[in-house]
Amino acid sequence: MSNPARQKRILVIGAGWAGLGATHHLAKQGYNVTLLEASPHPGGLVAGWTTSGGRSVEGGIHGFWYPYRNIFHLVDELKLSPFTPFTRSGQYSPNGLEVESPLFQNEPRLPTPLGTFLYTHFKRLPLIDRLSALPLLYAVIDFDNSHDAWQRYDKVTARELFKQFGVSARLYKEAFEPMLLVGLFAPPEQCSAAAALGMLYYFILAHQPDFDVVWCRGTVGEKIFQPWVRQIEDTGGKVLTNRRVTDILLDKEGYAKTVICGEERFEADAVISAVSVSGIKKIVSGSQTLNQYPEFRNLANLGGIDVLATRLWFDRMVNVPFASNACFGFDPTTGWTFFDLNTLHDEYKYETGSVIEADFYHANQLLPMTDEQIVEKVHQDISTCVPGFHSARVIDCSIIRVRQGVTHFAPGSYQYLLPAKTSIANLFMSGDWIVTRHGSWSQEKAYITGLEAANLVIEQFGFGKEAEIIPIEPDEPHIQVARTINTSWRNLMQSFILDSRLP
Ligand SMILES: Cc1cc2nc3c(=O)[nH]c(=O)nc-3n(C[C@H](O)[C@H](O)[C@H](O)COP(=O)(O)OP(=O)(O)OC[C@H]3O[C@@H](n4cnc5c(N)ncnc54)[C@H](O)[C@@H]3O)c2cc1C
Repeated sequence: MSNPARQKRILVIGAGWAGLGATHHLAKQGYNVTLLEASPHPGGLVAGWTTSGGRSVEGGIHGFWYPYRNIFHLVDELKLSPFTPFTRSGQYSPNGLEVESPLFQNEPRLPTPLGTFLYTHFKRLPLIDRLSALPLLYAVIDFDNSHDAWQRYDKVTARELFKQFGVSARLYKEAFEPMLLVGLFAPPEQCSAAAALGMLYYFILAHQPDFDVVWCRGTVGEKIFQPWVRQIEDTGGKVLTNRRVTDILLDKEGYAKTVICGEERFEADAVISAVSVSGIKKIVSGSQTLNQYPEFRNLANLGGIDVLATRLWFDRMVNVPFASNACFGFDPTTGWTFFDLNTLHDEYKYETGSVIEADFYHANQLLPMTDEQIVEKVHQDISTCVPGFHSARVIDCSIIRVRQGVTHFAPGSYQYLLPAKTSIANLFMSGDWIVTRHGSWSQEKAYITGLEAANLVIEQFGFGKEAEIIPIEPDEPHIQVARTINTSWRNLMQSFILDSRLP
C-alpha cells in the first residue's frame, strides 16, 4: 500500500542545519518534500566548497560542543565519523597567551560552576577579578529559558547585567566581552542579557564538560552536508540549489499554497522556512502576502551581523600551541578566532606550510577593506599571538565576507523572534533565531528547530512518526533546588506585592 504522506507536498526553504534537518526527517516519513536553496551549495552558513585552484574553503570554522547531542546522534545515524577528538583551546590578547582551557571531561567532576572556575588556567587575570563573577550566579539561576525569563532579561543589555551584578572591569574586558563577541557575535552593549545568560549557561555553565569541543576533520560541507544530502536524496527528498525563493502565495482560505522562485512556481501543502533573519526579511519585503501580517512585518526590527572568514596558506610550518584559539583586545568591538588546520583537517596534515583559518565576528569595519589589506591585518594579528608567523610568508588566501549573516540577539529583539507556528496555519518557521524552549544554541539549535518544524507538519497531516529530539542534559541537582526555591519565592512575592516596576 502506498504511503499516504507521499501525497503531501512539503516545501522547505533554505539548506542550512534547520532546512536539511526538516527535509531529512520528512523524507524518511515518506513525504513528498523539496528543499529550495538559494546558493549553489547546501549547508547555509556552514557550507564548504572547493576554489578553482582546488583549495577547500568554508564560511568560517564551526565547533561542535559537548552538549550537541542531536547532531552527534545524527552523524551516528548517517554512519559518518567527521570529527576530531575533543581539543583543548587557548585564548590570546595582544599581550600573548591569556587562558588555557583543559579538557573538562577529563578532570574530576565538580558541581557546576566549580569545575569551570577551578580548572580554567588564567595566566594573568587575578583571582579577585574572577571572584567578582560570583553574584552573577543569581541571574544564572533566575534565567531558566522560560518565556517569562526572556521577557525579564531581554530588554537589558548584557553589559548592564554584568555591571549590575558587580563584575569587575577587568573580568568584563578579558572574559565576558570576548565570550559574547565569539558566542553571540556582538559586544555586550549590543547583546540582550537574556541571550547572554542562555548562551553562557548552555556552552559553559550547565555542566562541567559543556565547553569541550570537537571540529570537523575537513569542511563541514564535505564531511557532513554532502553525504547527508546524498542520503536525503536516496530517501526520496529533493534538494534543489540555485533556487532563491522570492514569495509565498496563499490560497483563498489563507493557507500557503505556492512558493515563487524567480520564474518557477512550486505548489505546496505545507511550507517550512529555514532561512536566516536577513533571508526572511528579504522575502517579506518583496511579498504582497506576508506583508499583510504584523508578525512578518515586525521582522524588519531584527538584524544580522557581519562576519569575515579568512584562510591563509603560509610558506613554512609554524608551531601553533593550540589547534583552536579565541582572541580579544585587538579591535574594540570585534572578536576573532584562529585554527591550526594542519592539526584539525586531514587534508593539511602533510602540508609543508601552515594553513590557518582566522574568523572575525562583528567585523563590520573590516568588510570594506581590500583582500590585500585583510591578509596583512590577519598576518599581523596572528604573528602577535604566535611570533613564529612574523617570518612566514603568505602564499595563498581565501577571504569570505558574510554580510549580515548571523543572527543579532539585540536587546529588545525577543518580542520579534518568531515561534515555529505562525498565523498561516501551514507555514512553519525554523532556524537558529526561532523561539524554542529546548535550550540549545547555534548549529544544534538550528537542527532542532528544523526537527520541531517537521514534527508540526506531521502533527498537521497525521502521517508518519515525529522526530525524537534529545533534550539537553537536566540541570544539576543543586541548580534544580536553587531554581525551585527561586521560582517559589518569585511567585510568593508576586502574590503579595503589586509589582508596578517596569518588567
Ligand atoms: C564564521 C561563523 C562561525 C560560526 N561558528 C559556529 C560554531 O563554532 N559552532 C556553532 O554551533 N555555530 C557557529 N556558527 C553559527 C552557525 O553557523 C549557525 O547557527 C547555523 O549554521 C544556522 O543554521 P540555519 O539553518 O539556521 O541557517 P543558515 O545556515 O543561515 O541557512 C539558511 C539557508 O537559507 C538560504 N536562503 C536564504 N534566503 C533564501 C531564499 N530566499 N531562498 C532560498 N534559500 C535561501 C541560505 O542560502 C542558507 O543556505 C558560526 C557562524 C559563522 C558565520
